[in-house]
Amino acid sequence: MNIHEYQAKALFEKFGVPVPKGAAARSREEFATALAQLPEGATMVKSQIHAGGRGKGTFTNGFKGGVKFCKDKAAALAMAGNMLGETLVTAQTGPAGRRVQTVYFTVASDIKKEYYLAILLDRASSRPVIVASTEGGVEIEKVAHETPEKITKVRVDPAYGLADFQVRDLIAALGLTGAEAKNAAKLIRNLYTCFWETDAAMVEVNPLITTPTGDVLALDAKVSFDDNALFRHPELVALRDLNEEDPKEIEASKYSLSYIALDGNIACLVNGAGLAMSTMDIIKHFGGTPANFLDVGGGASKDQVIAAFKIILGDPNVKGILVNIFGGIMDCNVIAQGIVEAVREVGLKLPLVVRLEGNNVEAGKATLAASGLTLVSGDTMADAAQKIVRLVA
Ligand code: GDP
Ligand code: MG
Repeated sequence: MNIHEYQAKALFEKFGVPVPKGAAARSREEFATALAQLPEGATMVKSQIHAGGRGKGTFTNGFKGGVKFCKDKAAALAMAGNMLGETLVTAQTGPAGRRVQTVYFTVASDIKKEYYLAILLDRASSRPVIVASTEGGVEIEKVAHETPEKITKVRVDPAYGLADFQVRDLIAALGLTGAEAKNAAKLIRNLYTCFWETDAAMVEVNPLITTPTGDVLALDAKVSFDDNALFRHPELVALRDLNEEDPKEIEASKYSLSYIALDGNIACLVNGAGLAMSTMDIIKHFGGTPANFLDVGGGASKDQVIAAFKIILGDPNVKGILVNIFGGIMDCNVIAQGIVEAVREVGLKLPLVVRLEGNNVEAGKATLAASGLTLVSGDTMADAAQKIVRLVA
């Protein structure tokens, strides 16, 4: 789960990670009240969407820049009107862009230098890794590609925690000394605690800045949490912004279905995440493109199968459906009944290929045959994948 910059910065403050003072507004009426919380002077106006690259983004109305510097609060008030309700396209949003539903005002900081700092989970070492660079503000992927020596990585032993020498290594890599070094060390420790205690998957500060007065601040903040740990953090779940999520994915989560929308045209309904991954692979292998990842789980009910069917049919890009079920715990007949009922309810004009195998498969096949549905059955995964690819071509 991702959160907005203004929410991430409120979280940072709780953990003692310094951020510029700011206030968010969700409507034009709230602009003035938000600005009243800030001192007079140079103010930043920042579009809140779950995507980076806002500063270099362009609105679909032609207006340039989703992050703007304004010389005073009056200018910030006018500037916010250009952003709220408009659609911002950045390198990370895709061409459709994202509608700005919240604007964040912050005191504009004087920047001495911009740095990069992030903490994420390193799958290779199964440890948190702290990534730091003197090349902040710009795209870190570019730095990693062109000048990898400018990126320092410190892997933290989760049992021992972040050690003093590791913090010193990071400070040295950033070239900080004196008051800046002291402030940055405290910030890094507190950011690590924030990452650890919230079960975050990633906290990214780009840029982290030093100011002419020796302060070290998080000027931008991107935080995402491990969904599997959210049950431990009801206060974080409350930060979820459904406006930023695919409506199909929200509907799927109501039925405990793992659904991820993709951009292909073959919808997949599969039980088990591993089988769902290999189903997508085999569709690709035979020249097709999957429209989604969908795992109905090991013990799906008929209602879940019906909901799953409705969700995949709600995607206008879908030109055909592949059901691939291996009944271990799952009863194949439950899936078959779900398919029949869903098709009766919503109708089906698209080609449907079904491959059922395992527990109670004969009853499942009998249910499908007796239903009079026009479907193609696949004997093996390869057979089913080839058939659906041919049918949507
Ligand atoms: P992003 O484009 O989505 O990553 O948004 P950021 O919050 O990182 O802002 C983009 C850029 O705007 C930063 O890299 C800074 O160069 C600049 N910027 C953001 N906040 C301030 C500020 O308070 N003062 C100044 N001078 N520049 C800022
Ligand atoms: Mg940024």
